[in-house]
Parts: sequence; structure tokens; C-alpha cells
Amino acid sequence: MPRQGLGNSAIASVADDEQLERFDGRWAAMAITEPEAGSDSAAIRTTAVLDGDEYVLNGEKIYVTAGERAELVVVWATLDRSIGRAAIKSFVVERSNPGMKLIRVEDKLGIRASDTAAFPLADCRVPRDALLGTPDIDAKKGFAGVMATFDNTRPLVAAMAVGVARAALDHTRAALAEAGVEVDPDRPPHAQSAAAAELLSMEADYDSARLLTMQAAWMADNGKPNSLQASMAKAKAGRTGTDVCLRCIALCGAAGYAETELLEKWARDAKILDIFEGTQQIQLLIIARQLLKKTSAELK
Ligand SMILES: Cc1cc2nc3c(=O)[nH]c(=O)nc-3n(C[C@H](O)[C@H](O)[C@H](O)COP(=O)(O)OP(=O)(O)OC[C@H]3O[C@@H](n4cnc5c(N)ncnc54)[C@H](O)[C@@H]3O)c2cc1C
Repeated sequence: MPRQGLGNSAIASVADDEQLERFDGRWAAMAITEPEAGSDSAAIRTTAVLDGDEYVLNGEKIYVTAGERAELVVVWATLDRSIGRAAIKSFVVERSNPGMKLIRVEDKLGIRASDTAAFPLADCRVPRDALLGTPDIDAKKGFAGVMATFDNTRPLVAAMAVGVARAALDHTRAALAEAGVEVDPDRPPHAQSAAAAELLSMEADYDSARLLTMQAAWMADNGKPNSLQASMAKAKAGRTGTDVCLRCIALCGAAGYAETELLEKWARDAKILDIFEGTQQIQLLIIARQLLKKTSAELK
């Protein structure tokens, strides 16, 4: 999806007004993950050191969606590793920057039309105002600054999962209709065929994923704190996207599994939506921490 990069959501959530205008309309990828830091994004090692009017970035980023084709890459780096998570900031780097050379594009199970890039950052110089938001390190606010990124990106990923589930359900409903299966949402499951009951059960899952996603996205758009809702939407929709695609394949039989069918592709594509921007397990952990009022140190 050109121009709908995760980096654009990051810019929308952390940038100041001038930066919002400067980066408006430009396609931005998002580079958090490193060889030694995946789920635990606070463990990143990429550093940013101020040198005159420029920051110098050094480190290694992997699994960057659209990292080859986007115009900009939002890179997470730490201003001071000894301070911990409060020192992590995001920097907008031009894709053409000579300090950020592409070394690999992954070959993958799904989303094969989307490039997933790896690149080292070697003395990668960016202007001082490439740092999104404030350079101040607020120990009390901790990770809250860059973490706000996820409040915007998780509803976006959840929406992708809702979309793929909808497509799979529409495709399957048409296949069932062609086979003469009647689906009646007003009758209880036990009063209709097993195939119809299965479709209705998936529609119910789809509805809850969609409503949670709309709620999280609406809160993001209206500036309301939505970390809990963003994780709930991502957890439910990520799981539902994968489950629904596989159950639709089961209902459609051989016609669902063939490589000539879109269902086969959607089932492969859906899995990543339950992984990137925080896996299923990480979303459940965040939800549990919020509901139980535990810190990340108390509940790991
Ligand atoms: C195709 C693709 C595209 C991607 N795009 C991007 C991108 O654009 N930008 C970017 O920055 N990253 C991207 N990623 C990286 C992605 O966000 C990470 O893969 C993901 O966060 C998981 O990190 P990891 O792979 O290091 O797994 P790990 O963190 O090593 O996790 C491995 C397993 O352990 C589980 N686990 C880890 N910690 C816990 C815990 N505390 N409790 C319970 N279970 C736990 C995880 O849920 C997972 O199942 C992409 C990845 C892929 C495959």
C-alpha cells in the first residue's frame, strides 16, 4: 500500500506541527526492529549522537516494511543507552541517505508484494530537526513519547486484518451460495447447516474485531489516550484475520487451498498482521498490564 506506511502513522503521532507539514504526503517506512531487539523494542542498540547541527546514527535495522521503496524511513535510536527507554527517539531519514545502504530484501511466506528490507546505519548523518518531537529526555514520561507511535500504527494494522477477513468472508459466502447453502443470520446456529453456522460464527468474530478497530482508530483520530484499545483491537483483529482465512479455506475445500485462489494468498498474507507492530502475545501482555495496573517491570 504505497503512501500508507507505518512511518506515516509514527510521524502523525510524534511530530510537531512544522514537521507534520514538512513530511506531509511523503511515504515513510518504520524501522524499530534490530537483530537483538524485536518484541522488546526498549532493547534497541542503534545510537544517535549530536555532532554540531546533525545527529549521527549508527546501528542495524532489519524487517523494515517498504524499506526499499519508501521515500523516508522513521528510525528509532537512543540518545543515551545508559538512561534506558526514556532516551529512545525517532528520526526521519531520507531513503537516499548514503549512510543507510540496503543490504537485503527478505523472501517471505506472505505479503510478497511488500518489500521487507534490512540495512546497517553507518555514520548516517541527519539534520538536527529530523528528530521527531522533542529532544528532551523526560525520565518520568519514560517510553511514552515513541510508544505513542504504536497507538496510531496498531489500529492501522488491525484495519488491514479486518479487511483481509472481510474479503475472505465475502469470497466464502459467494462460494457457499453457489453450492446452494442458505445462511440466515436470524436463525440460531443449530437450526441451519454446519457450514452456515460456521460462517455466522466467523461473522461474529469479524464484527467484534471491526468494532474494536473502529473504536481504537476513532480515539487516535480524536487525540484520546488509546493504548489499551489499540492493543485490544490489534490482538483481536490479528487473531481473527488469520483464523477466518484458514476456516474459510476449510469451508471451501480444495477450491480454497489452490494457488490459483485468492483465499490461499490471503491466508499467507494474514499471518504477519498478528506479528508486526507487536505480536499476539505482546498485545495480551500490554492489555494485562493495563487491566491489572502493573508496570512492565512487574509483569514481563
Ligand atoms: C514481514 C515482516 C515485516 C515487518 N515489518 C516491520 C517494520 O516495518 N518495522 C519494524 O520495526 N519491524 C518490522 N517487523 C518486525 C516485527 O515487528 C517483529 O518480528 C516482531 O515485533 C517480533 O519480534 P521478533 O521477530 O524479534 O520475535 P521475538 O521478540 O524474538 O519473539 C518470538 C516469539 O516470542 C514471543 N514473546 C516475546 N516476548 C514475549 C513475552 N514477554 N511474553 C510472551 N511471549 C513473548 C513473541 O510473541 C513471539 O511469538 C516485521 C517483521 C516481518 C516478519
